[in-house]
This record gives sequence, structure tokens and C-alpha cells, in this order.
Amino acid sequence: MKEGGLNLIKRRRDTFFAKKVSRLQHTALTFLSPSNKFEIPNMYHHIFALHSKVLRAMSHPKRLEIIHLLRNQKLCVSDIQEMLGLPQANLSQHLQILKEANILKTKKQGKNVYYRLSHINFVKASDLIREVLVEQAQDLKDQKLVDELTLKMTDLVPLVHDPVCHMRLSPKTASVGIKYQGESYYFCATGCYEKFIKNPAKYISSVNKK
Ligand SMILES: [Zn+2]
Repeated sequence: MKEGGLNLIKRRRDTFFAKKVSRLQHTALTFLSPSNKFEIPNMYHHIFALHSKVLRAMSHPKRLEIIHLLRNQKLCVSDIQEMLGLPQANLSQHLQILKEANILKTKKQGKNVYYRLSHINFVKASDLIREVLVEQAQDLKDQKLVDELTLKMTDLVPLVHDPVCHMRLSPKTASVGIKYQGESYYFCATGCYEKFIKNPAKYISSVNKK
């Protein structure tokens, strides 16, 4: 009889704990269930990870320059190198990172490998951030910074050739710029400009070849 009483107490105790565990398990399951509003599915975390991987590849001053430089054109490594003034090894590394993130695509043409943007949205995304920076500079009434922020890459990098000496120039920094037969020509100095106007036909053909 004594033993029977002890068994009853043991059974009651076990039932008590079983119920308690069951209730705890229920609470835990409710909290972890995908239908619970506090739970963000793991798949979505993966999306943000994917997104940040692309932004990480873009997130370097030189790589942003490369993206802006390729806005309207494809360029080969030597062109990009000359325009940005970067050492070859350094540039190759940046191009590789952009290519691995599928931001740039390459195409072999003859001896040269040409780089271009895989999608125009990479430049649009960067432009949107730039717009915010412009607004912030306007709020601070910093007109100099506003002017710098609104400059185009094409105004800054040497994209054109002097038709006489073939030096690379940017339209903004060329000493002399003229319009001849509807085309713009830029010169490193007045010497080249004077040679050009004496015999434009001689130099125009060489510029068009490039
Ligand atoms: Zn020149």
C-alpha cells in the first residue's frame, strides 16, 4: 500500500511536468513558426546578403569611377588605365572584383578585351546616391561642393585626343577647343591648334581613325 501511494505521487508529478513541458514546447513552436509575425524567413536574409555582395563590389572610389566612366561606352583596359591614371595591377584587381559581381561584362575584339556595364541600373543607382549628396550640399549652402558633385565624369577624364599630337585631353581642361564642320576638336596648346587650322584635312582623318 505504501508503495502504491508513492507511485501515485510519482505519476502525478510526472503528469504535472509533462503538461508543463508540453505547454513550453507549444509556446516555442508558436514563436518559431513561419506564420509568426516576428519571424523573417531565412530565405529573405539570403536576399539581403546577395544585395550587399553587389554593393560591396561597387563600394570603392575607384570602382565607382570605373562604373561612371563606362556609363555610355565600352573601353579596353589601356583606355581605362590612361583615363583614370591607375597602375595596371591595381586596375586589373578592381576590374576583376566588378566582373565577379557581374557588374561588368567583357568582350574580346581583336587583341583587346573591352569592358562594359552589364546593366545601366548600376550607374543609375550611383546617380541616385549622388542626388542625395547634392541635396545635402545645397542644404549646407556649399555651392562649391554642389558644383563638384554635379560635374560629369566625361568633363573630367581625358576622353578626346588632340588631333595633332594625339595627346589625351578632357574637354574641360583642354587649352583650346574649336568647332570645325560641326565637330568639336580640342588641343593641348595653341601650337597644335595653329598646325591644325593651317591644314585641317590632314589631321581630321587621323582623329576619325581613333
Ligand atoms: Zn597637342
